Parts: sequence; structure tokens; C-alpha cells
Amino acid sequence: MSEFSQHLLQWYSSNKRDLPWRKTTDPYHIVVSEFMLQQTQVSRVIEKYHEFLTQFPTIHSLAAASSADVIKAWSGLGYNRRALLLHRFAQEVVTQYNGIIPRSAVELRLLPGVGAYMAGSIASFAFNLSEPAVDVNVRRIFSRYFTGKDQGAPLGKREEERLFLLVKDHIPQNRSADFHNALMDFASVVCTRDAPKCSSCSMRSFCVFASFYETEKEKVLYVMEKKKEKGVYENGKFVPNRIFRGRIVEFARKNESCRISLAVFGKTIKSDFSISEKEWLIMLCDALQKDHLLTFTVDGVFIILQLFQ
Ligand code: SF4
Repeated sequence: MSEFSQHLLQWYSSNKRDLPWRKTTDPYHIVVSEFMLQQTQVSRVIEKYHEFLTQFPTIHSLAAASSADVIKAWSGLGYNRRALLLHRFAQEVVTQYNGIIPRSAVELRLLPGVGAYMAGSIASFAFNLSEPAVDVNVRRIFSRYFTGKDQGAPLGKREEERLFLLVKDHIPQNRSADFHNALMDFASVVCTRDAPKCSSCSMRSFCVFASFYETEKEKVLYVMEKKKEKGVYENGKFVPNRIFRGRIVEFARKNESCRISLAVFGKTIKSDFSISEKEWLIMLCDALQKDHLLTFTVDGVFIILQLFQ
């Protein structure tokens, strides 16, 4: 086992978080947690994870559900498109694989909602296979430790391939799930994005980044590559469009097949809505319709909308 992995797993053995999806070996439960954890905080996922699995205890029950029921069950998690992708994932696994989730990253990548990271994470967490799951946290830890650079955002194609192989080389035999869980926990507690705890880190003696971070802290330039989100001002405060999209889906969840005036609907979505923002509101609904989250029509000054059935 490499020095890096040894230190990391040592740290993990006394610092691991107690999370429900780490106590199961059911691949379906692990897949549900992975879809939920994309861009949503762990604390919010814990609560919804149990609720969701109570409602859809098996991949067959999820596949057989209506889209509307799955979107409703996703309430509170945000990024509702993931609910539909998970739903389609379940349907394809049931029709193509008789309900048995494939193990190989190559096959997983062909399923809805599964990109490179998700394929690696399902293969690692559900099947303990030595498949790298490289996300912003893994990228940051490896680039700091091995190159001294503070890199979280995706690199160029060739560098990403090199990073993938570097991570693969460090996955200890038969400990892929532990190794990836350790990276996740280490990134959230020690090697954090904004304030890495280098002075107390057990990896510091071998970490390239730590060697200059302590002495030249002020000169270290963090490249925070935040995506510039689209949005509008609400009561003088900038609010990203994804928040408004979330509110529209929430409205549709609570009001099945409803006809409402655009002005009233606008006010429920954005508290200082004015009818001059009608095009913006329709544009948001249009994007949700394209994502198959809801359907809507505009009839003069009214809008009729419902969750996608
Ligand atoms: Fe991260 Fe600092 Fe530890 Fe290196 S020494 S792994 S940069 S926390």
C-alpha cells in the first residue's frame, strides 16, 4: 500500500463519519445515496434517504412508480432533474439487466445520469472495485499532495487521464470503498477547500502543498473557479435561477394540475415579481418542461401547469 493511502486510511480509521449508506451493501441503496449526494449536503440527504427508500424500497418499485411520484418524493433535495435521471436509471436496470445493477464502470456509464464520477463511485462503494471516482475533492487532495497546486476544477483531458491513473495506483487492494470514503471525509474535515489544516494534518510530512503553505500562506493564491450562475434580483438580493426553478417544481408538487393567473403565480415564485418578468418566468417553466419535470401551457393571462406524468 502506498504511503499516501496508508496515512489516509489510518486517519480514516479513527475519524470516519457514521453515514447510513455506509452500513448497507445493497447496490440500489448506494445508488440512491449517490444520486442524492450530487450537489446536496450530507445532512439533508440523510433524512431524505430513509424516506425515499421507505417509499421505494426496491429498484423494481422505483422503476414502476410514476415520474410525478418520484419528483414528489425528491422534495427538499433540489436539482430535481436528478430525480428523473434516477427514475430512468431504475427503469433501464429493470428492463436491460433484470433489476440487477451492473458492476463494471463501462456498463454503468451507459445508464441515465451516470457520468465518469458516478460510474467510479457506484463501482467503488457498491462493489468495492478499484475504480477511481474523481470529483472536486479528490482532485484537490491529489493535486495538493503530489504537485503542490491547489486545483479543484476539472483539468485538461490529458491531465485528467493522468490524475485518474494516479488515483487508481493508490487504491489499496480490496479497500476501494474505504479509500474513497476516506477521501470524502478527509476533504470535508482536514484538506478543506478554503482552509486546509496543514499544521495538524497527519499527511503533512509528505505533502508538497504543505511545505510552502505554512511559510507563504499569504502568497498562496486560491483559484476558486465558481461557476457564474444565471439569476435575477429579488428584493435587492441576487438569487440564482435554480432556486426559482426549485420553487416552481415545489409549487407544482403542491398544486396538482392547476390553472392560475401569471401575476399570482409569479408572486408565489418570486416575492417582488412584476408582469414585465413574464418572459423570464415562462423561460424557467420551459426549461423544466424540457427536463420532463412538468408540463405547462399559457392561456392569455393564465398558466396551466402540472408535474410531468
Ligand atoms: Fe491537505 Fe494540508 Fe494535509 Fe496536504 S498537509 S493533505 S494540503 S491538509
